[in-house]
Amino acid sequence: MKIMTIYAHPADTITNCGGTLARHADAGDEIVAVILTHGGRIHPNKYAEELRKENPDAAIAAAGIEEIAENKREELRRAAEIIGIDTVVTLDHDDVMVTVQPEMVEQVARLVAEHTPDVVICDYPHNTAVLSASHTLATMTAIAAIERAGMYLKNVDDQAEVDVQQIFLGGYPSFANDALSTYGQRNDLYVDITPVVGRKIAAMDCFESQGYAGLFARKLIESNNGEFGRAAGVNFAEAFVRYRPETHELLPLVPRGREDVLTRHVAYSQINVRDQFPLP
Ligand SMILES: [Zn+2]
Repeated sequence: MKIMTIYAHPADTITNCGGTLARHADAGDEIVAVILTHGGRIHPNKYAEELRKENPDAAIAAAGIEEIAENKREELRRAAEIIGIDTVVTLDHDDVMVTVQPEMVEQVARLVAEHTPDVVICDYPHNTAVLSASHTLATMTAIAAIERAGMYLKNVDDQAEVDVQQIFLGGYPSFANDALSTYGQRNDLYVDITPVVGRKIAAMDCFESQGYAGLFARKLIESNNGEFGRAAGVNFAEAFVRYRPETHELLPLVPRGREDVLTRHVAYSQINVRDQFPLP
């Protein structure tokens, strides 16, 4: 299987579906991660915190957007290696997205045509609607690009049509950060990331400049992936919502985590993240 992820910012790929990607990498699947913006303005903790000091480190304080962005690209490169992502494509648009841009849609459509992914993974477009509209815009860009790639005509666009089989939108969190975002347990598919949870933590530890390393990485895994895991009946899970309905010849039957209703909550609470994966 070929998987393409399309996200707004460098760390999104890892925080949203890093565990799922690690499992697919282990299964021999090919993964291309597309990042639309350089993400220099989102969580610039290392730089913003230094600037708040009375006597900031001159080298850090002098960093411009290109230096901040290059540091993020390097953090992503290290994280992608840990997860097993084959190709990272950073488009480096400025992270001030306010609307879907036709040129960006075409750019992503060309990448879809170049890599011909079977499936695409991106954010749920209402997650979150207000606080980080760039996530919504990234997904609208991705969907528009997939539709565009599906309508390429060889004699007109110098490119034959490309059919992406499915789009997996990142699952809903239990709580929303704002009143306009969708939230709740409406996820219709979970991936058990328990066997690779240490790699997801190690990959998140790479994002030092935005304060994701260390405690935050463990907090996110415990709370977010732990809550999805609770719903899925496993220690840690990533949640998805299928964009298109699926067609089967027979009703699908899948193993549903731990079946023993008496002990399942104990069974899926066996891993102490902070004990097993100590701070770097
Ligand atoms: Zn983001």
